[in-house]
Amino acid sequence: MNDTDGFRCARCGTEDGEPLGAPPFANEIGRRVAREICPECWDDWKDRQMLLINHYGLNLQDREARSFLMDNMESFLFEEGEGEASIDTSKEGQIDWD
Ligand SMILES: [Zn+2]
Repeated sequence: MNDTDGFRCARCGTEDGEPLGAPPFANEIGRRVAREICPECWDDWKDRQMLLINHYGLNLQDREARSFLMDNMESFLFEEGEGEASIDTSKEGQIDWD
């Protein structure tokens, strides 16, 4: 028995193991990830994030880019938010970050 007893990952539904534990961002969504997402799903998101960054040529200094990634992360991990961008849509090259 410990304080992670009863953990159930919000994405994959595993009840084994522990949540990520350390918030990856200092905000509400970061704390939610730390409580509700398992380390495996977080690794899945990091791979996905890298694909999105490369695919869209995102500059993480750019607020719009970070906001885009946050929306995608919420959709990816919690199936909510603005909706997940699809890697293979016709959006490529059509996003104007300015
Ligand atoms: Zn999981």
